[in-house]
Amino acid sequence: MMVILPSSSSSHRRASQGSVSKDHCPASLGVRKRLVYNDGAKRLFLRSRFGFGTGRLLVRGYMGQGGAVNECEDMVVEGNELDVPGRKYGIPPAPTDGFDPNHLRVYYGKLFPHSDMFKWLSYGNDGKHPGCDQTYFGRREFSFTLDNDIYLRFQSFSSLPDMEASIKQKCPFKIDLGPIYSVDPSKRHAYAKSGDNVFTPVERELIFDIDITDYDDVRYCCSGADVCLDCWPLMTVAIKVIDRALRDDFGFNHILWVYSGRRGVHCWVCDAKARRLSDEQRSSIADYFRVYKGNENGLNKVSFVGAALHPFLVRSYSEVLREYFEEVLLLKQSILSSEDKYEKVLEMIPDKSVAAELRGRWQGKQRSQGSKEDINVVRWQQLKSLLQSGRFKGQGLRRTVEEIIFSFTYPRIDMEVSKHMNHLLKAPFCVHPKTGRVCVPIDPNNCEQFDPTTVPTLAMLMEEINMAGSREEPYDVNGTSLGKEVIYFRMSFLQPLLKSCKEEIENSYNTRLQQSKNSLTW
Ligand SMILES: [Zn+2]
Repeated sequence: MMVILPSSSSSHRRASQGSVSKDHCPASLGVRKRLVYNDGAKRLFLRSRFGFGTGRLLVRGYMGQGGAVNECEDMVVEGNELDVPGRKYGIPPAPTDGFDPNHLRVYYGKLFPHSDMFKWLSYGNDGKHPGCDQTYFGRREFSFTLDNDIYLRFQSFSSLPDMEASIKQKCPFKIDLGPIYSVDPSKRHAYAKSGDNVFTPVERELIFDIDITDYDDVRYCCSGADVCLDCWPLMTVAIKVIDRALRDDFGFNHILWVYSGRRGVHCWVCDAKARRLSDEQRSSIADYFRVYKGNENGLNKVSFVGAALHPFLVRSYSEVLREYFEEVLLLKQSILSSEDKYEKVLEMIPDKSVAAELRGRWQGKQRSQGSKEDINVVRWQQLKSLLQSGRFKGQGLRRTVEEIIFSFTYPRIDMEVSKHMNHLLKAPFCVHPKTGRVCVPIDPNNCEQFDPTTVPTLAMLMEEINMAGSREEPYDVNGTSLGKEVIYFRMSFLQPLLKSCKEEIENSYNTRLQQSKNSLTW
């Protein structure tokens, strides 16, 4: 069950568990102890199935008598540093994979790039320049999903310390980003009461959400939320095709691709002109990418009519789709290896006699006789040479090879996400609660190198911190496998983005200045 709670109350309520203290970490799973150190600091103390940690110090032995403790207790711990061999940083030993909610507090405390996220979402409006809009960041909606599907919509933050403190305190399982509203979204009720109906989204990155579950009819290795290296190339194709079109056909430059943590990818187009698109314009752009006509027999069929393909489709086909179909997916998915699979392809051939001829050749032969070549490759060659042999001059058949390739490879975008400004999308650098994988950026220029099975997981990062703990102080994200992801985000995406944001702020400020001078002159 999803419970939606307003953001305004400082102590939000759980559906069935009564009130929750403000400093209670939702990840602490019902066990809270507040330690009072002799330096006077209070640190939240979390239980895990492996032990207890504050994110800084491991306290061993305390919980031996444990069991669940449901009330806050203050406990005095002697000394600042508890001597636990090999685990100076006090992070419970990590499971080999997956997600341990107790590690989230450490993650948000030490690794999550709060400052980079703040700089990104401020779009240059965080400096001293008189042209800056100081309200900009504070009008962005953040949405937190806490433990037990408690959902906090319309969170907003006035500053980096404000945002960072809230994330560290609430330890959200998921952070979603919404649009920039006309007014601070956490104060929307006050505006409504005042009679000004001004609460409306005014800016939002153009976003794309591509989920591999939408490809279940063309991947045979996995289904549902699972992904592997045999089906992931479908995502690679999507990134290549969409990224190229966004840059070349729409002229966008500041594009961030992010692994969704489990089964797909997200795209954030952050150029000023993209952020200011109306819903109608967003719909037009989403429609530009649409080629599917219906969903017959479970396969997203593509049907090309008319004399010529749109140049975007021609380019996508010749530069990406054909290569990925013939050299990667045909083999990895064994698209023509067995009858149930090749029948799906034969159904796409409009001339039934052609389909019957191929079926006749393929039936009962599980291996390509007398050939060392893969049976999928052999059959694909047979299909192509028959359809392109000149025996069949019909317009319908001419396009059939292309239609098959598009059906098996072309990006499938969740259109509704792209069309509306106020759609939420998970923030980069969140940790997926089911897989423990961090939502890391993907470099579109090297997206074929990206391997979802080796992205940093929360467990891996905790282990790295523990390892580094004995050597380094203070602890640094660069010492972990997340370091290069943060550096990519900063160098390849954030720096060029902020440079153009600053130029834009400067230019529009100067234009306004000039206009007001002119009006004074007259
Ligand atoms: Zn797979």
